[in-house]
Parts: sequence; C-alpha cells; structure tokens
Amino acid sequence: QLPLALILSLLIGYIAWLATAGRMSFSHEINLGLAAREFEIYCQPLVNARNQQCTGVEILLRWNNPRQGFISPDVFIPLAEQQNLIAPLTRYVLAETASQLHHFPVSPHFHIGINVAASHFHRGKIVEDLQQFWFARQPSQPLFLELTERDALPDVDHRVVRDLHQLGVKLAIDDFGTGQSSLAYLEMLHPDVLKIDKTFTAAIGTDAVNSTVTDIIIALGNRLHIDLVAEGVETAEQAAYLRRRGVTALQGYLYARPMPLHAFPAWLETHPDA
Ligand code: C2E
Ligand code: CA
Ligand code: CA
Ligand code: CA
Repeated sequence: QLPLALILSLLIGYIAWLATAGRMSFSHEINLGLAAREFEIYCQPLVNARNQQCTGVEILLRWNNPRQGFISPDVFIPLAEQQNLIAPLTRYVLAETASQLHHFPVSPHFHIGINVAASHFHRGKIVEDLQQFWFARQPSQPLFLELTERDALPDVDHRVVRDLHQLGVKLAIDDFGTGQSSLAYLEMLHPDVLKIDKTFTAAIGTDAVNSTVTDIIIALGNRLHIDLVAEGVETAEQAAYLRRRGVTALQGYLYARPMPLHAFPAWLETHPDA
C-alpha cells in the first residue's frame, strides 16, 4: 500500500501541472486570437444625465473564440492581466478603434473611453503605446483612459500622469469604490472622472449598505470637483436619482447595450448627440 504522503504529493504535483498547462494554453489561445483577429470591438454609449445627449462611448472587447465559443471579458481580461498579456490586448484595442473612428461623430465633445490596466502605466509604457497606436493616426477625438485596479495599485509615476495630461488624454478611475486603493488613486492620478461601479448603481433605492456608499462617492466627487459617471443604469428611477445628485453622465442598458461599432451610427440617429 502506498503511503498517504506519497499519494498526496503525487496528487498535488498533478494539480500543479494541470494549472501550468492550463495557463500555458490560455496565453497560447490569446496569442492565437490576436493573430487571427478574433477579438471584436464593441462600444456602449454614455449620455449626459440632464439632457440625454450622447457624450461619447466606452470601448468594450468581445472574444468570439471559434474553438471555445464566446468568452466573457470578465474571464479573459483578469487572466490576461495575470499573464502579462494585457498590454498586447490594449494595443490591439487602440489600433482597431483608431482605424474605425469613422463610425463616430467628429466632435471635440464626443469622448472615446478605453479600458486600461493599471499595470500598463508602469514606466510610462502606456504613453509610448498611445503615441504609436493611437496618436500616429492623428485621431482628433478626445480620449479617456478608464483605469481599473483589479490588483494592487503599482506606484504610478507622476511623470506619466503629466505626459498624459500634455497629450490631452483624460483619466477616469473605473469601478470606483470596489478596489483596494481608490482613495490613494485620487491623490496620485488627479482623475477627471470617477466611474461609479454598477454594484453601487444597482443599490440605489434599496436599503443595502452600498446605497450609502453610492451617496458618499457622489459627495466625494462633488467636493473634489471631479465629474461622476454612473455605469449599469437600468431603470428610470436610478437615472433620476443620479441626475438629482449631480452625476454628469449615465451609461447602461436603459440607454443602450454594448454594440459593434458599425451599429453605432444607426443608434445615434434615434438619439440626440452633443
Ligand atoms: P467595466 O469597464 O466596468 O465595463 C462595464 C461592464 O458593464 C461591461 O461588461 C458592460 O457590458 C456592462 N454593462 C453596461 N451596462 C450595463 C447595465 O445596465 N447592466 C449591467 N448588468 N451591466 C452593464 P463587459 O463588456 O462584459 O466587460 C466586463 C469588464 O471587462 C469591463 O468592466 C472591463 O473591466 C473589462 N474589459 C472589457 N473590455 C476591455 C478592454 O478592452 N480592456 C480592458 N483592460 N478591460 C476590458
Ligand atoms: Ca470601464
Ligand atoms: Ca466600470
Ligand atoms: Ca464595473
């Protein structure tokens, strides 16, 4: 009979091997997907809270993997971040979006929001990538970077923040209030926008603790003169509540679901733009 310790160590070794193999095949999958351009660029409109005019879009990535079917960004983005593949994905998003800007109105008031991982700010990599994959095409559209803090915040060099400012790039802190270091971000990044996470929007009108957090985030934005954008707006009640409290822009299924860029002009025709 095999000793229990041996069986256990074999088992642990096997699980560790499985995990490594899974990771390797996943990075392989992403690289395949990038090479075959399986990722599709979607966008979701943002509307001015007071007059419902469309003020811009957020760019969202979709992966229709022909080998495994549709994979949610909530699954592949965190994995890509863990395996240092988020920068190539972001470069793909920047280049693809820049090449499809003809779907959007040309206006200094129409903003394009791109999701960027905090790790991409390390050593100013984001500035180089923007120069190469965005500004090289000279798009005149105002650009927002939505910064998430899924993992702990790396120290963001103030030179990066200054360079972005000089390029006219605006910063939004995404999912504000859900991460580990939102308050440290305020001092470090001087953000132009705080995005209220959809879990807080969903809590409006309920007696959940999160509905108090929503009020406190709004008060914080108002006191610091930082614009607020609420995501996940699904009901007219939520919209009215946010509007009354001075939230600048709203985004959610109430206005539109994310759509491929080529579908945006038709949507805009049925909605006023800024
Ligand atoms: P996020 O940046 O917080 O994006 C908002 C998410 O909420 C999107 O999910 C959007 O489809 C969804 N949403 C919008 N309105 C509503 C609503 O009214 N109700 C509900 N329940 N959901 C709503 P999606 O597209 O599945 O993306 C999930 C997350 O994946 C994003 O969260 C973002 O963190 C990440 N992600 C997506 N695309 C990219 C990308 O190109 N780069 C990076 N770094 N991250 C991305
Ligand atoms: Ca976002
Ligand atoms: Ca968000
Ligand atoms: Ca979110």
